[in-house]
Order: sequence, then structure tokens, then C-alpha cells
Amino acid sequence: MAQRTVYLETFGCQMNELDSELVAGRLAELGYAFTADSDKADVVLYNTCSVREHAEQKVWSRLGDLKQRKARQPDLVVGVLGCMAERDGAGLMKRMPVVDLMCGPAELDKLPDLLDNAVRTRLSMLADDPASAGRVSARVAALVGGASRRSSTLAAAADSLELLDLSRSITPLDAGHRRSAYVRITRGCNKFCTYCVVPFTRGAEVHRPPQHIIDECKRLADTGVIEITLLGQTVNHYRFEHDAAVAVGGITQPQKGRSYKGGHRRDPFGGSRVTTFADLLHMIHEQVPEILRLRFITSYPRDFGDDVLEVMRDSPRLCRYIHAPGQSGSDRILGAMNRGYSVSAYDEFLARCRDYLDEPDKGRPLMLSGDIIVGFPTETDEDFDRTIALVQRSRYKNCYIFKYSPRPGTIAFDKMPDDVPEEIKRERNNALLAVQADISDAISREQVGRTFDVLVEGISRREHRKRGTDVKPGSGMVALTVGGQTSRAAVLDPEIDHSVQMTGRTEGDQIVFFDAPAQAGDNLVGQIVPVRITSAERLGLHGQHG
Ligand code: SAM
Ligand code: SF4
Repeated sequence: MAQRTVYLETFGCQMNELDSELVAGRLAELGYAFTADSDKADVVLYNTCSVREHAEQKVWSRLGDLKQRKARQPDLVVGVLGCMAERDGAGLMKRMPVVDLMCGPAELDKLPDLLDNAVRTRLSMLADDPASAGRVSARVAALVGGASRRSSTLAAAADSLELLDLSRSITPLDAGHRRSAYVRITRGCNKFCTYCVVPFTRGAEVHRPPQHIIDECKRLADTGVIEITLLGQTVNHYRFEHDAAVAVGGITQPQKGRSYKGGHRRDPFGGSRVTTFADLLHMIHEQVPEILRLRFITSYPRDFGDDVLEVMRDSPRLCRYIHAPGQSGSDRILGAMNRGYSVSAYDEFLARCRDYLDEPDKGRPLMLSGDIIVGFPTETDEDFDRTIALVQRSRYKNCYIFKYSPRPGTIAFDKMPDDVPEEIKRERNNALLAVQADISDAISREQVGRTFDVLVEGISRREHRKRGTDVKPGSGMVALTVGGQTSRAAVLDPEIDHSVQMTGRTEGDQIVFFDAPAQAGDNLVGQIVPVRITSAERLGLHGQHG
């Protein structure tokens, strides 16, 4: 079979970005080529998100556009991966005959086989009967389906998805270019917030063996990665009980998360037989010192122990940044969301984080970020006022604000009418965005005069626009693309360009712009350099290097 070219587009969260990276690595090893131009691909894959309806609509529209194309290009193979495949299942295939394969997020290790199968089926069908071009081919799917919580028996079963992470291809291509990477530590979620599809699409919470995580961090560090973000839906719930570890074929299997009762500030089961989240952070910090920045997302506001805050305080390479969504400032709404904490418990949690970690005088202010849902069923003006007050008290560096989107299959969808009109949702969304904008502005201005270590990501977008070059985001880094060729040197002409505006991030995830001599600019990419902040705007700090 001739080499096939794949276009892979990712929607949604960082977990999806990592899934796409792992899948792309496997497919590249199997000989597939990749293109950034969907029109040039033989295989179009969408790694999808179901968290809000809007994210799904984008994919429906992409699939709709492919209908005509498939008539023109009958051997085109179209695949839907991720949460939408899992959530919609057969419904998606029925509505979109253009789709040849579907693969849920818990089955992505099976994608290479599925794809091979889909490509061969399509080709042989056309060879047998060229007139069948417009017809649907035999379709392939790997979905967990009704058994999406089957991971409860995982301790006794081979967890093949772990193989996808274990076989992560960290190629020499990465070396020298890539400085930031994601590493998964837990999958799935046990929380069942009433609005959320994640526990259904990604299954039960499972924790990877600590040694697998540490080995992956070391392998990434060996290729030049210096910043790692650990991923989990409730990342601070990570724990691995060594006495209960099961090995299959010599590979230690991930473990189902034990239910937390909450309220404690230290893992009550901590000790030599259990690796807690605090232990894991400490181990990576000590055993992989080449990782100069270690972060984690997303924290669940309950069960965030003082043990974690102590490790963060005492480990210089652990970033002073916590993303801990509050979701609402009303106890009544938090109850309806099944969040499992009260507003005062959330306030107390943020106060504790600040007590331990906020050290602006040492150049290490704690940066917090959050998520809020507006217009949850039955939310009144009074509830919303409480949310505004929560956002004002919390002083997030940034906050993602979402209008409630009813998701089929969730408890809220089944039991709570979506009774806040769209108009009110929009008003509340805009009002909260304005409140957050003022806070972000103020926090930015507070940084003026401070000096921060900045991880340089590349040349700023403004500079690219000035030069008429494309910005191509990849692995958190920015590369220059000129006429389809990635080439930084071709763009910078030291005779003309005396200085160039660079961009990077602080440990608190604030964006910094600074000027560097044109000749030095390229060498700074991927370095951590000191920058003194001289002025500020909402979305970025401006400063001087050196
Ligand atoms: N696990 C994380 C947590 O609990 O904070 C967040 C994961 S979720 C994929 C990301 C964010 O999407 C949530 O924090 C929530 O604010 C938002 N979200 C989830 N379901 C939603 C829904 N049905 N409508 C609107 N926003 C939603
Ligand atoms: Fe969804 Fe809640 Fe789990 Fe976050 S904690 S993924 S919002 S169910």
C-alpha cells in the first residue's frame, strides 16, 4: 500500500492535544506521513471534544464539508476520535455517512489497527467496484460504549491504553526544538459534576504507575524538554498503592482511583506503600532535575493537601501556578453541580495556597486561574452576584468563563431544565469577562518593576506580522514559516533588523514580551532568561532582557 498522508486536527483540552501527539507518533512509526493541509490528505482525522455543544458543532461542520470532497476523492478515509466519538457512537455514523472510523479516548491504542483496516477496506471496495465511490464502506469503531465505567475492574485487567503512553515516540526530531511537553498522570474522572460529560467519555479515574511517569519525564528531558505539565482531570487526586499493584506481561498496570472522603489536608494513606500526588511531584523534582519547570493541571479544589503545598513551596522548580476551577460563587449552585465543596471551603483553599506560595518580594507571586460556568439551571441574579464576588475575591490571573451548555447523557441534562435564557447567559458571561479583565489588568500592573525568569518561546506575533511571516504553533513553541519552509534564519537579516521582539512565559504563566538583538534572538528560544518588567497590559507584560 502506498504511503498515506494524514491530516489530524485537535479540538478541546490539553488532554486531547497529548492524545493527538501520542497517536501521531504511533502513526508516523508505522509509515504514515502528515500534512497541515487537509486538502492534501488521504486520511482526515478529527480528535474531538464534547464538553460544550459549540465544540461539537465545529466538528459537525467540518464533516459536512467533507461530503462533497469524498465524492471527488473516493479513497479518502475520515475518522472521528475522542469524546464525540464515544458520546455519539452509532448516532454519529448514522448522521454522517462520510465517517469511516471512530475511536473513543479510552481506545486510542487501537487506532493504528483501525486505520489500517479502514484504509484497506476502502481501497479494496473501490478496486472491486469503482462505481461504489459514493457508498458507505464497512466502518470500523473502537468505543467503550455502555461499559464506559469498566475501568473499575482495571486492576485485574490489562490496560492497553497505558501502552500508548509507554510507547510515546520521543524522536530526535524533538531534540533542540521542543522545550515543553505534557505528561499524563491520571485518566478519566470520578467526580460526576452534573453538567459534565468527561466521566462518561473518558471513563473512571485511573492513575499511572509513578515509575512510568518518571521514566517518561526522563526521556523527554533527554531530548531537551525543560518544562513539563502533568495532566489529569483532578490531578491532585493522583495516588498509587504499591501493595495493590498488578503487572500484566511484565508491565505494571494503572490503578483505579480510590474514592476520597474529603476534608483532610494530608493524604491519610500516605507512606512508603503509597505514592501520593505530593510524593510524585517531589520524586520528579528530585529525580529529573533537568526539568526546570514542572506544572500540573487541573486541580480539584477539594482534597488539595498541605503536603502538596509544602512540596511546591520547598521545590524551586515547581511553578507557582495553580489552575483550580471554582465554577460558581453560590453554594446552592455548587450543590446542584455536585461539586462537593462550599464557597467558604473554596475561599479557604485559595487562602491556604497564598499562605504557602505567594512570595512576590522574592519574584515568585502565586498565579491562580479558574473556570466559571454562568447560566447553570436555576441560577438567579443573586447567585450570579455571588459568582462575581467570588471572582473578585479570588483574583485569578485569568479565568475561563463558559455559558452552561446542556450535554446529553449528563445528570443536569436529564433532570434540570436549561431555564436560563441565552440572552441572560450572554449578559452574565460579558459582565464576568469585564470583571476579570479589570483584575487581570491590575495583576499585570503589579508585576511592573519585578524581574522574572522567562522561558523564551520564540518571536512574537507582532514581529511576525511586521515581517509578513506565518506563526506556526507547535508544542508550545513558535517557529517561523516562510513560503512553507520553516526557517528562522531566512527571516532575520542582521543588516536590517537590529532588534527583534521575543515572547515567553513566567513560571506563573504570564506572557512576557521583550526585545533582543536580532542575532541573539534565535539562540534565546528555549532558554530561561531574566526579564525586568517595565510596563504591562492585560494580556502581556513588557520588559527588558538582562
Ligand atoms: N476537571 C476540570 C475541573 O473539574 O475543574 C475541568 C475539566 S472540563 C473539561 C473544563 C471546564 O469546562 C470545566 O471546568 C467547566 O468550567 C467547563 N464545562 C464542563 N462542562 C460544561 C458544560 N456542560 N457547560 C459549560 N461549561 C462546561
Ligand atoms: Fe468534569 Fe467535574 Fe470531572 Fe472536572 S471534575 S472533569 S468538571 S466531572
